[in-house]
Amino acid sequence: MGSFVLPGELVGTTEEFRSGTGTSVLSGDIYSTATGRVRISRKARVVSVLPSTNVPNILKVGDVVFGKVTDVRESAAMVEIAGIEGKIGREIVNVRLGDLHVSNVRDSYVKRLADEFRPSDIIRAKVIDVERMRLTTSEDSLGVMKAYCSNCRGELELDGKKLKCPVCNKTETRKISTEYGKGIQ
Ligand code: ZN
Repeated sequence: MGSFVLPGELVGTTEEFRSGTGTSVLSGDIYSTATGRVRISRKARVVSVLPSTNVPNILKVGDVVFGKVTDVRESAAMVEIAGIEGKIGREIVNVRLGDLHVSNVRDSYVKRLADEFRPSDIIRAKVIDVERMRLTTSEDSLGVMKAYCSNCRGELELDGKKLKCPVCNKTETRKISTEYGKGIQ
């Protein structure tokens, strides 16, 4: 498999190759016109870009992502981003650790971040800044999707506006998504 390219990337020169499908020539340089993988036919000396429907994802502002909370500090929670909604299972090219700042958790004031998230929670969040990989969960459908009891590791169940452990009956608070327990698409 050739390297993954976006439209406008240089894939060769006319001295080496002829321009095949998914490419175009400008001043002797061959550029990709597609998002996909580069294929070079050495024999025919043709460079092509095969558009891929299974291209890796590139995170953008506004993308809804799923991830696991790895650390909860005083002012921010760290989130290991696992996938983009609707595109789960595809690799993400530009993924880094997500930063969920306390001011972006709810649209109201958050007193204690540890009452909103705990490590190993699975959350649904929206990307608001790609450069610093900042996330928000302030919308109703964003927040914790799946959480485990901090006492016995049982999977917490929705109980009104809180979460309850069916094993040890402990009640916990979170910034719960309206999609809690509905699974990940
Ligand atoms: Zn429990």
